[in-house]
Amino acid sequence: MRALAYRGPHALELEERPQPHAGEGEVVVRVDACSICGTDLRIAAGTHRAYAEPSGRIPGHEIAATVVERGGAVAVDEGARVFVAPNYGCGRCRACLRGDVNLCETPRAVGITEDGGFAEYVLLPRELVEQGNLLPVRNGADPAAVALAEPLACALRGSRACRIGAGDVVIVFGAGPIGLFHVALARLAGAAEVLVAEPNAERRARALAFGATGAAADASELHGAADAVVVAAPVAAAQRQALELAGPGGRVNFFAGLPRDRSRVELDTNLVHYKELVVTGTTASTNAECRDALELILDGRVDAASLIDARFDLDAAAEAFDLAGSGRALKVVIEP
Ligand SMILES: [Zn+2]
Ligand SMILES: [Zn+2]
Repeated sequence: MRALAYRGPHALELEERPQPHAGEGEVVVRVDACSICGTDLRIAAGTHRAYAEPSGRIPGHEIAATVVERGGAVAVDEGARVFVAPNYGCGRCRACLRGDVNLCETPRAVGITEDGGFAEYVLLPRELVEQGNLLPVRNGADPAAVALAEPLACALRGSRACRIGAGDVVIVFGAGPIGLFHVALARLAGAAEVLVAEPNAERRARALAFGATGAAADASELHGAADAVVVAAPVAAAQRQALELAGPGGRVNFFAGLPRDRSRVELDTNLVHYKELVVTGTTASTNAECRDALELILDGRVDAASLIDARFDLDAAAEAFDLAGSGRALKVVIEP
């Protein structure tokens, strides 16, 4: 099979690999669509810690697929169309027992610690299969849109941490795919106003088309007293501004991580104290969030397909990664 392997910084190489076969409890899927995430761009650039070595591992964790081979009695049918929730854990640590597999002491994820979806086929490990990560796609939805259940699930985790309710004023920093998902989720939660801070004019227009009620190039143009503020841009200044723009009792989510060597930020903690702010961080997602995100896409409450700007065959992966990294497209999907 063809697969895109990590051979070092700026060296994702299209290779011929033996087609995997399912051992006991394992499942092999044929990849229908795998979308490119900011995480994949960091992997390609050589700055992702799970890809410290030129290991030949295959990235890709936003996967819609079809089951083609099962190892013994597993609870999924051959031919079934599935979304692969990528994160799974040891199943025994305190985080896993709470259901927070994303916070497992030894977290594992398809496309991060294991071979992923930028390939024709993926071998899915027994633990992942047993933990219920293969979520059935119950209708004939576009696989590329189904794949976006992964980033939507991450956004859902951040949005829920902000406890957005009817009538709320919400500010979102960043109008990339994640920022736009936060806009959609805030509207679904009943927010009256969803304002976006985004320097790129084209992305501001996309945010307005996706349900934002206002957009500004700079957050200083937005008035304060927001009930919830989501920072979906890896920018320290935005984290500082988020605390200023949050109103009394406001909830803040630091959704985006900062570059590893620049993650120390000076914040006015008196804003947290005197306004009784709740400042949260979220990372990745659980199976429960993936399931809910998938439902939002399948029943059309979130129009994920409208974020897909380009589709490429695996043979054109280099072109796909160039476009995804250029900032000129929201979601770029590979259909192997
Ligand atoms: Zn992702
Ligand atoms: Zn665990």
